Amino acid sequence: MTRFTIRKQDGLARTAVFQTDSEALQKLPSALECEVLFPALESGGYTNIPLCAPPSFVEQYPPVTGIQPVVIHPHLDNTAQSGDCVMASNWHTAFLNPRNYVDWLINLKEKTPVDTAWYAPASALPSNVHILCYSGFDLFDFRAVDLKTAKNRFCTPEGDFSADALSGGICTCSGCQQKNLKMHNRHALLCEIALVTRFIEGSRLRDLVESRSRLDAAHVAIMRHLDNQYEFMEKHQPVARNCVLRANSGESLQRAEVRRFAERVINRYRPPKTDVAVLLPCSAKKPYSLSQSHRKFQQAIGGRAHELIVTSPLGLVPRELETVYPAGHYDVPVTGYWDAEECAVIAGILARYFKRNPYRRIIAHLEGGALRVAQMAADLCGFILEFSCREHPASDSALNALDTALTGARRIKDDRLHGMVSYQFDVDLDTKGTTLRGHYPELFYSRKNVQIFSIDTGSGLLRPTFDGWNLIPEGYRVYIDDFIPEGDVLVPGVVEADPRIRDGDEVLVVGARAIATGRAALPAGEMLQSRRGVAVHVRKIKRV
Ligand SMILES: [Zn+2]
Repeated sequence: MTRFTIRKQDGLARTAVFQTDSEALQKLPSALECEVLFPALESGGYTNIPLCAPPSFVEQYPPVTGIQPVVIHPHLDNTAQSGDCVMASNWHTAFLNPRNYVDWLINLKEKTPVDTAWYAPASALPSNVHILCYSGFDLFDFRAVDLKTAKNRFCTPEGDFSADALSGGICTCSGCQQKNLKMHNRHALLCEIALVTRFIEGSRLRDLVESRSRLDAAHVAIMRHLDNQYEFMEKHQPVARNCVLRANSGESLQRAEVRRFAERVINRYRPPKTDVAVLLPCSAKKPYSLSQSHRKFQQAIGGRAHELIVTSPLGLVPRELETVYPAGHYDVPVTGYWDAEECAVIAGILARYFKRNPYRRIIAHLEGGALRVAQMAADLCGFILEFSCREHPASDSALNALDTALTGARRIKDDRLHGMVSYQFDVDLDTKGTTLRGHYPELFYSRKNVQIFSIDTGSGLLRPTFDGWNLIPEGYRVYIDDFIPEGDVLVPGVVEADPRIRDGDEVLVVGARAIATGRAALPAGEMLQSRRGVAVHVRKIKRV
């Protein structure tokens, strides 16, 4: 029997603990002496079928069963169970064709239980282990680095060099001090895995992958092909992270979390009842309304228009959603220059939004790239833009022009709650009679003196109370067996979950004997598929 428990997930990557009958508990990701860990590997037959072998070939050579690790292959049915270690033989050859890499990976991930350790034999190098972990592998060996040693190559996360680099001062590990290439190469792999682990624990592996992958075209291609598999990637991304989303590269535009935000603004979010919109530039400070420029914009607008912020890479952020992840969390290098792809993607988002939510007047209070994008969107869906400035939106003259443009426009109700509920739960909430207290952005909403929602200042998401959940008629429920949870709800107790639930979503736990409010620790699919671990971090329990 082997045991595998996930500790922390970051997209497909995770930290975990793994244990076999004979060996001590191992923290993953890690590189281990896998022939010691899995003695049965030596005698097991047909464990090494090439990934590109056709189905007819794979059928002729079924791998031996009943041993650890369990062989997985794109053309084999899954035989692994929760807690097993699975092995994708020859995974290093997948790097030769990034498109195949991603197709095979998705094939294997979709059919294999999520709570299994993923072993990529003879594959890990200091220069590729970031993308292997990002792809959801967690167990490695020293074969690939030892092979580099045999070829007299000195390994670093940035690639490998001839062995004279051993005395070049690049590294000062004990291997380098002893002029022992094998020791250095193994050490370099373990160091890089330790760094990757840190990034997973901080929910920031994507940042490391975007940075490391620049040195290898295959790694960039794998990241881009994975981003193109939006539906697969999106369900593995948490709805919120308590850290900055660094949009420092062109790939940020295609990142699943960035695309999900735009899709929800277009498909779920419901704007307030008004027919006048003002398009505003973003600010470096988040949430925007705490910045000086946005204070001035809001003063000039005086609540007489719906405020929409045009920004890269998110596209369009309605004012009500400015605290929500990643709108309140992204950081982007500001140069004033928007490249052609950025303009095309963001103009497409604006055009889709305005097609679904038409306004009588749209005033562009923008300059530079954001202005160009707004014009492109107007051309795409045939609306006429008004302009209250062409440059310096925060200047006195521009602010006066904005004020004048809105003369006579009716004040609209500031209804942040309505916008946030529609975005988060896809519900058109009637907010009549709700009152607000707190100090922005830490807000509490009540009705008849009973609190219904608060804003989580970390994620920027709404936290419903039991009374709040009464206003959300369906969805985001996790159904449990006939028991009263003591603390967190564990995976085995879950019988059903709304498929839209993602890691970090606010959910209502519903059972025959109790209901509970809390935050999902896993996406719905994994709650139902795994055997161990926490499904929902519970905040409050109520017997029924
Ligand atoms: Zn060294």
